[in-house]
Amino acid sequence: MSFEIKQKDYIQYLKNVYDLLQEKKDYITQLDLATGDGDHWANMNMGFEKLVSQSDDFLNISLQEMFKKIGMTMMSVIGGSSGVLYGGAYISASKELAGVDAIGAEELYKVWNAMLLDIMNRGKADVGSKTMIDSLAPAVKALRENIDNGQSMKDLLNDVSEAALNGAEETKKMQALRGRASYQTNKGVGHLDPGAVTMSYQIDELCKYVINNLL
Ligand code: ADP
Ligand code: MG
Repeated sequence: MSFEIKQKDYIQYLKNVYDLLQEKKDYITQLDLATGDGDHWANMNMGFEKLVSQSDDFLNISLQEMFKKIGMTMMSVIGGSSGVLYGGAYISASKELAGVDAIGAEELYKVWNAMLLDIMNRGKADVGSKTMIDSLAPAVKALRENIDNGQSMKDLLNDVSEAALNGAEETKKMQALRGRASYQTNKGVGHLDPGAVTMSYQIDELCKYVINNLL
């Protein structure tokens, strides 16, 4: 048996991410000050603040429409590279949700894989470029492997979350090939990539939400 993430669940999840971002303001800002221009927290925060304020409108539309609207909001509200990348990712993922009324493990794989491919294409980045991809890609891989191995949903979600968090941690050693950190002389080595960290928060929050509410 898989889980079923419906609109109301996804809306609550967006609120949880927004709440977590409030706790992490200084930390994420510092990360982007070390290797970029310091606006990553503010960018993500503006996006999630707007999504939370729009969330009543999301209840009465399909999951597909909701993902499309989330993407459009992110694209227009979040400044910087992350706005375009998340916006495009959500819009691309919405195409996987035609006729779908709840997201289970297989749909989540399709959604995240579509996001991953869109981010990679749009940002011309790969695994190991020291970006948000380095958290999302291992999570997508862990999700696929756990589904194929017939893992229990709780173990699957814990594994996916761990893959995302570890993936973000791994960026500390990496040399940036994309994004502002690539302009630095040492390519950001020794610092975590802020976008990978906020990506890992989003993946971890979704896994936690499902474990705590839908299993
Ligand atoms: P900006 O870099 O324009 O100031 P943000 O600070 O909001 O935008 O986001 C920075 C994050 O975006 C980086 O930490 C990285 O994870 C991600 N990023 C930047 N460029 C790319 C890219 N080409 N491909 C994938 N992710 C990227
Ligand atoms: Mg920035």
